[in-house]
Amino acid sequence: MTADAPITQDVLTLPRKQPDGACNLVGLTRPALRAALVEAGTPEKQAKMREAQLWQWIYQRGERDFAAMTNLSKAYRAELAEKFVIAIPEVVSKQVSADGTRKYLMRIAGGHEVETVYIPETDRGTLCISSQVGCTLTCSFCHTGTQRLVRNLTAGEIVGQVMAARDDLDDWPKPGEGMGERPRLISNIVLMGMGEPLYNFGNVRDAMKIAMDGEGISLSRRRITLSTSGVVPEIARCAEEIGCLLAVSFHATTDEVRDRLVPINRKWNIATLLDALRAYPRLSNSERITFEYVMLKDVNDSDADARRLLKLIAGIPAKINLIPFNEWPGAPYERSDWSRIEAFADILYKAGYAAPIRTPRGEDIMAACGQLKSATERAKKRRADIEAEAGLPSS
Ligand code: SAH
Ligand code: SF4
Repeated sequence: MTADAPITQDVLTLPRKQPDGACNLVGLTRPALRAALVEAGTPEKQAKMREAQLWQWIYQRGERDFAAMTNLSKAYRAELAEKFVIAIPEVVSKQVSADGTRKYLMRIAGGHEVETVYIPETDRGTLCISSQVGCTLTCSFCHTGTQRLVRNLTAGEIVGQVMAARDDLDDWPKPGEGMGERPRLISNIVLMGMGEPLYNFGNVRDAMKIAMDGEGISLSRRRITLSTSGVVPEIARCAEEIGCLLAVSFHATTDEVRDRLVPINRKWNIATLLDALRAYPRLSNSERITFEYVMLKDVNDSDADARRLLKLIAGIPAKINLIPFNEWPGAPYERSDWSRIEAFADILYKAGYAAPIRTPRGEDIMAACGQLKSATERAKKRRADIEAEAGLPSS
């Protein structure tokens, strides 16, 4: 661990007032929602029921207009509309890939933008959501890491991405339709978009609690995966306070290489990270930790790497996701050859691990892992800067 590692948790979530000063109900926890209603004049005695009714309208039905909430009195609806809004990020553009992947650019308060990606597969539909604008970490193979602008998303902006994507996909139950009558297009959520979710823990937790709430968006905790680059002190909280599945951006088998690829390794190295993963409280034995491993040509893709990886993770219930490197303009790496990726996977597979090679999705629209970066971000770093920060010899 070096003292000068450029790792900071220096972002704030400022409470964001809606332009007209009204309070946004989206993203409030249940107790906070109830408190807001009481503060706005709802009698204490009714507050619990009103909370439940609003919760269902907002998260089960996708309703944004108080006037349409027919089980509330007209007078109460008008009162709510005066004091509150139901606001989610605005989709400013949508690109659809040849493979069906959809990438949304969503505008949030302050004019910032984040990307959200929908990936349809035969047996599921996964929404990849962002937790920060940009990222304070600077993994040298990640496009998001070259974006300087950073702020934490609010809980409303995080769960709001799910709601906005459900709007676009027409994935809300129709009036009169029961829950679960139609297969859900968004069946899974991965926190693998822009940002380090464990550096925005409280907001991510509150948003995922809403996504998992049985009277709300109602996704099972096993269908939500949080990916971290290795913020060791926050890892256990992920199981304790959210209860979702965990993925770890591992990417290297020696500290020397991981220091360059995932600079947070200089603060919490491989041994420290593995200790945290060994201690990771699992709610059931079948819950494995996903090790993400980006395949970079001649950097981390040798047979010796595969064998070292096996030794390191021995004893941890694990699966390994091999991610062929997705290129972006100016990236200082190349994708490993396909035959190399297969040989690497084979070593893991023969040792008894599931080691799927993640098929790159949405590459034609720059929606694949690690390619996300807001279009508004102008302060592009030069390749030389990226290499210098990563400690790579300048090319
Ligand atoms: N910040 C979190 C989550 C977002 S990144 C994290 O780092 O885990 C989601 C995954 O994509 C991570 O495993 C990340 O390492 C990987 N990734 C980043 N850039 C990539 C690229 N160019 N090609 C392939 N995978 C990449
Ligand atoms: Fe941030 Fe994750 Fe990209 Fe690293 S890989 S820069 S932690 S978004």
